[in-house]
Amino acid sequence: MIKTSRVFKRLRSDFQLSIITLMCLLGVVGVSPYAVYRLSQGNYVVGVADVIIVLSAIFTTLYAWRTGDTVKPGIFASIILSSASTLIAIRLGVNGLFWIYPLILFNFFMVSPGKALSATVLVMIGLVSYALAVPGTVFESDYQMTSFLVTSLTASVLSFIFASRTRNQRDQLQLLSVQDPLTGARNRRAMNDELKIASATQRRHGDQYAVLVMDLDSFKQINDTYGHQAGDQVLKDFVELIKAYSRKEDRLFRFGGEEFLLLLPNTDQDSLQTVASHLQQQVALQLKGPGGTVTMSSGGAILQRGEHWEAMLQRADQRLYLAKSAGRNRAIVSDHTEVHALDN
Ligand code: GH3
Ligand code: MG
Ligand code: MG
Repeated sequence: MIKTSRVFKRLRSDFQLSIITLMCLLGVVGVSPYAVYRLSQGNYVVGVADVIIVLSAIFTTLYAWRTGDTVKPGIFASIILSSASTLIAIRLGVNGLFWIYPLILFNFFMVSPGKALSATVLVMIGLVSYALAVPGTVFESDYQMTSFLVTSLTASVLSFIFASRTRNQRDQLQLLSVQDPLTGARNRRAMNDELKIASATQRRHGDQYAVLVMDLDSFKQINDTYGHQAGDQVLKDFVELIKAYSRKEDRLFRFGGEEFLLLLPNTDQDSLQTVASHLQQQVALQLKGPGGTVTMSSGGAILQRGEHWEAMLQRADQRLYLAKSAGRNRAIVSDHTEVHALDN
């Protein structure tokens, strides 16, 4: 019962996996009878092609379910199905050509629009070359060949436009769902996901992670004195500054109003100390609001072996609190040290 609901949950949340599974069902239910029929009629080439389609559908689906990877199985299935459909159309002529249309749709579901278009064009080139080399096969007349080319190309181009549009919209939605609209930093939802992944990666591979929780000092005053828009601009400038002075692999999240978290992979205590000190200085030197310099306070922590990421966050938060209590404009990343922004 639990297993069944887990299967449905995966099918609902992973579109590619559900398409691969649907293809497997269609392959097994729809093509197996043809395979049996062709083999019993002695049409071994088509029969074997049908068997290959069924077996690769099963193999692809099992692989995708086991590994969670749907890209490689998609490319594999697309190559096998395109080749098998071409072979079947060559052997069966018009009756086989009907299968090219679902093949076109299938390719656009399985692989990127560019790859799907290339696969479809290759299938057409294969069929037409064979028909020209061995006249009287595949198509019954030149008129039929032209009609086939025009209709299948139309179907391909329309599918290409539709698939590209869908892909762009999906990418945009994905970006919106993890991004803070004001600053462009990643949002809290993304932060929770990435901290979970970091925790799991550390447990499995022993990778080292650090976090730095940063909070702008006396930010409310900027809002109260100069207005919300001035405050917004400071937040945007702050994010740009941190992005400019952190490494490419570091991830910046906005998880509260003027609270940010930097997740630093492959970072030990010494490096965290250096990074925190550096960022602290750059903010104090470069971040300007309408009333002058804006500073931050920060608290850092290293993810301990086997520790839950929430515990690490709590430690970083406590150190941030200490930094605030100690007078702001400073970073505390361990129980023994304190980093001042500038000698002031
Ligand atoms: P502290 O040094 O102790 O951190 O003081 P603070 O004034 O920075 O802290 P407090 O938590 O009192 O105030 C945070 C302010 O951030 C309050 C809120 O109005 C403001 N804020 C939260 N989100 C936004 C935002 O998106 N835009 C702007 N302009 N202000 C925001
Ligand atoms: Mg603050
Ligand atoms: Mg705050």
